[in-house]
Amino acid sequence: MTQTNCWVSIPEKSDFSIHNIPFGIFSDTDTTKRVGIAIGDQILDLSKAAKLGVFDALNFDTSVFTNAVLNPFIALGKATTNAVREQIQNELTNENSVLKDYDTVLIAQKEAQMHLPVFIGDYTDFYSSIEHATNVGKMFRDPENALLPNWRHIPVGYHGRASSIAVSGVDLHRPMGQTMPPGAEAPVYGPSKRVDFELEMGFIIGKQTQLGETIATKDAEDYIFGKVILNDWSARDVQKWEYVPLGPFLAKNFGSTISPWVVTMEALAPFKVAGPKQEPKVLPYLEATTGGNIDIALQVAIANKNGEETVVSNSNFKYMYWSMAQQLAHHTMNGCNMNVGDLMGSGTISGKTEDSYGSLLEITWGGKNPLILNDGSERKFVEDHDTVIMRGHAEKGDIRVGFGEVRCTILPAKE
Ligand code: MN
Repeated sequence: MTQTNCWVSIPEKSDFSIHNIPFGIFSDTDTTKRVGIAIGDQILDLSKAAKLGVFDALNFDTSVFTNAVLNPFIALGKATTNAVREQIQNELTNENSVLKDYDTVLIAQKEAQMHLPVFIGDYTDFYSSIEHATNVGKMFRDPENALLPNWRHIPVGYHGRASSIAVSGVDLHRPMGQTMPPGAEAPVYGPSKRVDFELEMGFIIGKQTQLGETIATKDAEDYIFGKVILNDWSARDVQKWEYVPLGPFLAKNFGSTISPWVVTMEALAPFKVAGPKQEPKVLPYLEATTGGNIDIALQVAIANKNGEETVVSNSNFKYMYWSMAQQLAHHTMNGCNMNVGDLMGSGTISGKTEDSYGSLLEITWGGKNPLILNDGSERKFVEDHDTVIMRGHAEKGDIRVGFGEVRCTILPAKE
């Protein structure tokens, strides 16, 4: 199967090649939310494709494509969802496909609105980049012993809040918060002065487990449907004051933003790479031979209120110390159950160099080294009307599989 056989024209360097086929929820002038896949600049409406009979041989209830979230589709299981993806690839490269006769099965992405792709019941955020954990440890605790003693033994995580996760394009107000300004004698209430992005990727659970059940690292991929880019917004001044002793709370739950297209693990399979060597050796339940890292180039840009962009970071998902398989094995070793649609955040993805750090906290080193944007203005943290845009793609030879973008503008606080 090659791109050139695809009868939908696909712009060069499109994230949505014939090799990708990511799933999402869209609406257009017909405001009903429904399931589509992205191909080039278009969306293929799967509910309409199903009516034309292209999935008849697969023998499943195609009403899942008229649902407002992907959960019922994902819950059909990988045998079906992979077959659907392959069938779409076949149709889009078949000159005689019935889909070619019906223009309404394809909708221009610019004319559609994207929605949150899954109902997220639970959200867990890990802290799995050793570079990020080291940078934060140096700043907040001890430059000599930046990593806490547990860090190389446990994929550290916490339970986040699912209700405030929004899709790309939904803007957020700067959060109000309680902070203890440096040198102050008493805490104050007001708009956060240190709003920051966190460059993360999220994976979406594709298979339910029962309470008491565990997932072995070798089986973990069966339980992962696909991935999205995640901007895990943070209010650093609130975080610093509130996080002891129980960890992140209101500094993290005022909003997180995900990309609208869920890229399947199967689409990402060609880009797998080995993760970093883990020293010391992990406990047996965390040993993993599969489900390692994936080479996904990630970029963060800040656009000023006129839309002028400055790239502020180039990172990569392959830097992660703990793999998704290890995160999932750890999360379930005590019997904690998983539901279809649950979201697992990687934690901020930082590389070794300053231009690959995944947050402004690290890029400006707590505000000490401000960034200069292309318009000449200075940034320590995100300012009102700034738009943070994250993009990601994997590429090997002439195969490109990408995520599109996730964008969100920070609006002034509602005081
Ligand atoms: Mn986070």
